Amino acid sequence: MAPTDDNNNIHMLQDIDRAHHLHPFTDPQALKTAPPFVVESAEGCMIQGQGMSLLDAMAGLGCVNIGYGRTEMAQTAAKAMEELSFYHSFAAITHPAAAKLADKLAALAPGNLNKVFFANSGSEANETALKLIQYYWLRKGKPNKTIILSRDFSYHGSTLATSALNGLTAMHEPFGIKTKGHVEHVMSPFWYRFGGDMTEEAFAEHAAKAIEDKILEIGPGRIAAFVGEPIQGTLGAIMPPKGYWPKVAEICRKYDVLLLVDEVVTGMGRTGNWFAQETYGFEADLMSLAKGLSSGYQPISALMLSDSFAEVVEAESAVLQHGFTTSGHPVAAAVALKNIEILERENLIGRIKSEIGPYFKQALETLLDHPLVGEVRVEGLIAAVELTKNKVTREQYPYEWGVCQHVANAALMQRLIVRPAGNVLVMCPPFTISSSEIDQLVNGLSSALDQTYAALQ
Ligand code: PLP
Repeated sequence: MAPTDDNNNIHMLQDIDRAHHLHPFTDPQALKTAPPFVVESAEGCMIQGQGMSLLDAMAGLGCVNIGYGRTEMAQTAAKAMEELSFYHSFAAITHPAAAKLADKLAALAPGNLNKVFFANSGSEANETALKLIQYYWLRKGKPNKTIILSRDFSYHGSTLATSALNGLTAMHEPFGIKTKGHVEHVMSPFWYRFGGDMTEEAFAEHAAKAIEDKILEIGPGRIAAFVGEPIQGTLGAIMPPKGYWPKVAEICRKYDVLLLVDEVVTGMGRTGNWFAQETYGFEADLMSLAKGLSSGYQPISALMLSDSFAEVVEAESAVLQHGFTTSGHPVAAAVALKNIEILERENLIGRIKSEIGPYFKQALETLLDHPLVGEVRVEGLIAAVELTKNKVTREQYPYEWGVCQHVANAALMQRLIVRPAGNVLVMCPPFTISSSEIDQLVNGLSSALDQTYAALQ
């Protein structure tokens, strides 16, 4: 739809939307009093809607890495659709874009993650991982290895099985999702919240040991895999303490537990390397990718398998009874390839490491002087501003006070989009963000924090 500033048209859209559109992660009752915001167009780091232009420090949902509105991407999609509007990849069929994308991802991925299964969303990639992990252990003659270890504060998706992985009971209870016997949660490596007096290294040891303890408590013979986001993005951009990930990988190897790394947010450059496994120095058996794979221009995701994992999956002659109609869709795959070409051509990931990432970190760290800010965490272009009631004791504001939401709303009044998660403001802007846009973001955030602080007095 072309952008419009016609108020009547906006109201009409809001009305038909409210009548017929069930929104994800939205309170339908709240929609009755506050209509949905209609986004009409976007360019670079800015989104436009209802006569306003907003700086999107969230890159949509942490996905629009190359920035919005690239004509080249639209042209790629149009050309791909003209050439091959659709064909599937079931039953030994392929097409150029899917084959080239698989080859490119295998070349980029760390370690020996050389095989790719395509799906349409991060949830589907992780759901596929859960099925293949089960398949793997059955083929290995270890049918009792069925339990998945996940962590508090994790987010891995919205399907029935991936919801059970999520580390927030609020995502289980309303749907009656039972985790017992399927998924066991261990502590999040959230140093600021749980580290107490421990050094970063000691806390890394402590948080990794919690995984080992859980494996020993249940028995290694029953644990199929450990799943984790390198940075726990959705629920607070929780950064791993130094040394945590290599220790986790070592524990998994020691007890013959598969390691599934969920790089749906961190993959494709967000931390200043193509994959966060490179940033944190470890290798996984399986890796899920989505969001930044196409920068959100098309729905596409991938699950990458290590050689040793793939070998077991492919060892016997048997049809893999799994797949989605649009797995490796030719248009989505062409768009993902173009996205990778742009990331490489414009050195957008190198820029995060050498230039804009350090600028982002230094700018956000100026907020540490604010009385509401307990910690600022930044890795590449993902960041958290952690709010606290007391900088010394790190006491939290009760969630129901909505302090973080208040800051996010005040930021919105200044045309800035940041995401509140508990007591944390999360940001992960497009890789193309400029230093002046970062200044605008930090200045706006600073005054939003001032307003909230004043309201609390
Ligand atoms: N994994 C992580 C780490 C995510 O952040 C998300 C979504 O935010 C998902 C998986 C699920 O991806 P999708 O929403 O594409 O299903």
